Amino acid sequence: MSQGEQRWQEVATGVHAWIYPPGGWGQSNAGLVLATDASDEALLFDAQWDEPSTTHMLQEAPLDRHRIGTLVNSHPDGDHTWGNAVVGAERIIATDACNAHFDHEDPQRLGLLVAAASRIGRAPLVRLPGPLRTVNGPHLLLRYLAAMGRGFDFGGVRLTWPTETFSGELDLTVGGRALTLIEVGPTHSHGDAILHLPADRVVFAADVLFVGVSPIMWVGPLSNWQAALATILALKPTVVVPGHGPVSGVAEVATFAEHLAWIAEVGDRQRTARRSPLDGAFDALTSQEYRSSPWADWISPERLVVTLTAMQREAENGPPIEGVQQRARLVTQMAVLADRLARASR
Ligand SMILES: [Zn+2]
Repeated sequence: MSQGEQRWQEVATGVHAWIYPPGGWGQSNAGLVLATDASDEALLFDAQWDEPSTTHMLQEAPLDRHRIGTLVNSHPDGDHTWGNAVVGAERIIATDACNAHFDHEDPQRLGLLVAAASRIGRAPLVRLPGPLRTVNGPHLLLRYLAAMGRGFDFGGVRLTWPTETFSGELDLTVGGRALTLIEVGPTHSHGDAILHLPADRVVFAADVLFVGVSPIMWVGPLSNWQAALATILALKPTVVVPGHGPVSGVAEVATFAEHLAWIAEVGDRQRTARRSPLDGAFDALTSQEYRSSPWADWISPERLVVTLTAMQREAENGPPIEGVQQRARLVTQMAVLADRLARASR
């Protein structure tokens, strides 16, 4: 993936956001908080998906005299944690739940898959008719994975665990600046946390906010996600930095809350009509209602199938989405749905 367009953006004095447009798979944002006093303290909120892209981010960082002594991981997903090793922070802070799920994905295994996928996935797709169509799934999965992981070095990731954990809230001071970590998960993942800088009125929302990018909910429940957005709005921030997408404010949080309300309706309709999450997502994403919505041009709409699956399991008191096989099955469904959507729009 091109590294040319990512950049640090100052969102308050001595507070910077690393923005990786347009915010698709692995194009995750981070935050840097510098001391307000004469000390050299700095805090980094999240790493990148691999060590080279984290190194690139650190090389570009406006650190001046500061050094990063504290790293926070907002949640356990690789695109926020797999660059931890090169940050070299003495303290790595995350929620207890993030820590408990820290190795839920295996970077080396993903590296092998992406490498195989980039070789095999390039072969032309042979479309099979009728009921045999699902046989296309593995091929579509490989193509999807190859595009997702292009340019990242997962094989070289040294998984580097949190050194301190918390649940609920944690107050910190970084060189005279007071800030609070607030646990709002589980929702997008296990143990999602946001960072609040009250004096600067800045919130780093990580993957509790997606802007211009469709959200994905692996864990849920959706009601926790909605409550998390209410928590952000109640903090009355002037700047909200999403986990993916451009620097935003409360207007984008409000639009995102409307989007989650729409997903809740789609889930109800899909379960009432006894459609599968895949078919329910296809129905919703090709509807006139969707095409005239504020989120019609958000990228990666196929993620809806994962969110609907998590919601269905919750509604049926089923087990959560867990394990490599279930995740692989859902990534296949995203690949199949993306393909169906591309063909439907032709
Ligand atoms: Zn992310």
